Amino acid sequence: MHTKTIAELLNSLNKGECSSEELTKIYLDRIKNYDKNMNTFITVTPDAALKDARAADQRRQKGEAVLLNGIPIAHKDLLCTKGIKTTCGSNMLHNFISPYDATLVTKLKEAGTVLLGKTNMDEFAMGSSNENSFYGPVLNPWDTAAVSGGSSGGSTASVAARFTPGATGTDTGGSIRQPAALCGVTGLKPTYGRVSRYGMVAFASSLDQAGPIAKTAEDCALLLQAIAGLDIKDSTSADKSVPDYRAALNDSLAGLRIGLPKEFFGKGLDPSIEKSIQDAVKILENAGAIIKEISLSNTYLAIPTYYVIAPAECSSNLSRFDGVRFGYRCENPKNLEDLYKRSRGEGFGAEVKRRLLMGTYVLSAGYYDSYYLQAQRVRKLITQDFQEAFKDIDIILGPTTPAPAFNLGDKLKDPVSMYLCDIYTISVNLAGLPALSMPGGFVNNRPIGIQLIANYFEEGKLLNVAHQFQQLTDWHKKIPTAFEESSK
Ligand code: GLN
Repeated sequence: MHTKTIAELLNSLNKGECSSEELTKIYLDRIKNYDKNMNTFITVTPDAALKDARAADQRRQKGEAVLLNGIPIAHKDLLCTKGIKTTCGSNMLHNFISPYDATLVTKLKEAGTVLLGKTNMDEFAMGSSNENSFYGPVLNPWDTAAVSGGSSGGSTASVAARFTPGATGTDTGGSIRQPAALCGVTGLKPTYGRVSRYGMVAFASSLDQAGPIAKTAEDCALLLQAIAGLDIKDSTSADKSVPDYRAALNDSLAGLRIGLPKEFFGKGLDPSIEKSIQDAVKILENAGAIIKEISLSNTYLAIPTYYVIAPAECSSNLSRFDGVRFGYRCENPKNLEDLYKRSRGEGFGAEVKRRLLMGTYVLSAGYYDSYYLQAQRVRKLITQDFQEAFKDIDIILGPTTPAPAFNLGDKLKDPVSMYLCDIYTISVNLAGLPALSMPGGFVNNRPIGIQLIANYFEEGKLLNVAHQFQQLTDWHKKIPTAFEESSK
């Protein structure tokens, strides 16, 4: 059962081959037996999961099954869940229980899913390796010496280890796509505004977007179907109708124009990844796609631009964690200033503090124009590059990351080398575009990802291309050996 996709599990449930309760037990057992070492979950909710599974089974019996009726899933621990801890991977929120559900959580409940628990992540979604979590790093199911990627590493690793058939993640600069690539699963970052951010703890509000993580593009289509759409509680969510994402999955690729940005290849890219990308391009070309070289000439500015805008926004967003209203409070504060200083000093980890310092600096009087405003101008140029490219092409294709998963500890002492992991993903967030990472092969026995980028609200096109690719390849079917057996 654990090897099946969500679409296959729905079939099995509909045919009565298994119940949601049985399915949920299988996944809970796998988590119980094998997650201790992997650390993909921060909180597991077995009692609530079994209760929800039984309710899903009853709905099915009554002929009232909904879209994802009885399918177990996991949420990144940054999405507020009523009555269940939401820690954001931080000591600051280690005991925070939200009084309400995020809209995305509500929508997945309404779609009939069964919540297994909350997944590990880099603290407040800042990181690319999951080593910034207060709860310790997530290990990569393909090789426990390697990082899972981040910040949604708990979600991607739990899907890869078959602890859950699907999960949610959030992506501010690559945090769905980069760990999806490093764990060998499929992850979709929707267009900014496609999925409500209400109840998703904010990191950088103009960049954050939640999306699905699963084994296949088809499963991502099912999950996106449930979470996309306007939400009056989030004024940045888009008032745009939601198409049927599965309807387009089987469209032919004949005549599809795929652009390869020359800036995504060559220097900095692992040659073995480049070879895997070229192989993928050939497969898509044989399926009828037309390949063109394009240029996104401001790509080299994406990381410095992001590391002005994201810290600026997070320094503002995280100012609410002051030891008074939410989360961690230091012991015996001497006075108000001491309360602020020690609560924040003890509550936040090193990377979060680094970002808060950077953000406060670039927003301070005298520097605002030269850093923050300048970064916003460059952001516009990066966005224009994409719009220029989409005049002649339908989809952009390239690597998700410059290299496969690195070893735990390798980049911890050098934040800039960690930041460079997102070189191909960050510009997409700056422009607010949708993008997907799908498994594209292995380098040194570690998975690598292929990234597809589309124009605004064209998630359907991304899912179509990825689905067609997955009909012609089997990278997405590979399971890490340690997690192959059904008893695991
Ligand atoms: N790795 C990037 C960062 O550390 C992106 C994180 C994200 O997408 N949440 O900020």
